[in-house]
Amino acid sequence: MLCSTSQFKGVDILLTSPWPKYVGNFGNSSGEVDTKKCGSALVSSLATSLKPRYHFAALEKSYYERLPYRNHVVLQENAQHATRFIALANVGNPEKKKYLYAFSIVPMKLMDTAELVKQPPDVTENPYRKSGKEASIGKQIPIPEEDSACQFFFDLNEKQGRKRSSTGRDSKSPHPKQPRKPPQPPGPCWFCLASPEVEKHLVVNIGTHCYLALAKGGLSDDHVLILPIGHYQSVVELSAEVVEEVEKYKATLRRFFKNRGKRCVLFERNYKSHHLQLQVIPVPLSCCATDDIKDAFITQAQEQQIELLEIPEHSDIKQIAQPGAAYFYVELDTGEKLFHRIKKNFPLQFGREVLASEAILNIPNKSDWRQCQISKEEEEILARRFRKDFEPFDFTLDD
Ligand SMILES: [Zn+2]
Repeated sequence: MLCSTSQFKGVDILLTSPWPKYVGNFGNSSGEVDTKKCGSALVSSLATSLKPRYHFAALEKSYYERLPYRNHVVLQENAQHATRFIALANVGNPEKKKYLYAFSIVPMKLMDTAELVKQPPDVTENPYRKSGKEASIGKQIPIPEEDSACQFFFDLNEKQGRKRSSTGRDSKSPHPKQPRKPPQPPGPCWFCLASPEVEKHLVVNIGTHCYLALAKGGLSDDHVLILPIGHYQSVVELSAEVVEEVEKYKATLRRFFKNRGKRCVLFERNYKSHHLQLQVIPVPLSCCATDDIKDAFITQAQEQQIELLEIPEHSDIKQIAQPGAAYFYVELDTGEKLFHRIKKNFPLQFGREVLASEAILNIPNKSDWRQCQISKEEEEILARRFRKDFEPFDFTLDD
């Protein structure tokens, strides 16, 4: 059944056996398939009405990836997403034509309209709508009036929006949610959540835009990192919604650690790093006062000729650092921040060294994370423990 109401935007994926008729030779077609003769006009109608973002077809024993085409008429209709038509050959064909297609997709329901309708540079006109065919295609199938704007497959949103079981049982493992398509890294990244390099066993909580992971070789068993799920280099580059969740994680971790008799110190070093890592290190209240931590940072910075400036509370790093500029800052549990604009040669371990120093945690032998590495089994135990302890504070379970 076709659904086409004012709210209906289209479907993410359409799979048909026959090719659509008139799909045309645009792109990598070797011309071995006559697109005027082969295929079904009904499938063309279906694709016109359903506006799939991806349309896969088979039966012609040929691989063909067409240039994307528009679903709207430029200057006459509102912009809509483009469709990519991909035909695949038979599995295991002797000519070794492509029969597998790997891709990742964020459901359109979860995307910004602006992002969804962004037109690829090589987009073409809709092949099924031109030269008078539109009339016949558009009228072949009656369009129901209302109430059918539903996708019955790939509708991930329903489940995710639902409150999880009251036993909280399934909250023990992290639940990946579908964020809007986040920025992608130029190469392999250890911290992009979707990347195979991530050490998933260290992940302890997953939100919509950010996640928490235990620091590898952390200063303590509960030293965590707040990381964006997508690839952002620094806090300065984050969009408002990601910043909002970072702040939520900060506030939650403050409460969590306070509850455990600790205050948390947070720092970011945007220098020789690719993916934003907000280090959150708990310091037992019995260790020292916030002012002692602040003094330790200022003193040890001076010793290394690092100019650490106090910046107004609640001030935004975005207002201070330009995108792309290197910096280091530390944020105390009071919200006070100390900021350093890095010009060149900043000691990579600075934040850690100060925290590990006698003045604060007094574990100078732990100032280098490589000295603190433990086995994967031990890391798994710590992560499990953190997840369980954090559960009563977990705001990601509330929605
Ligand atoms: Zn990354």
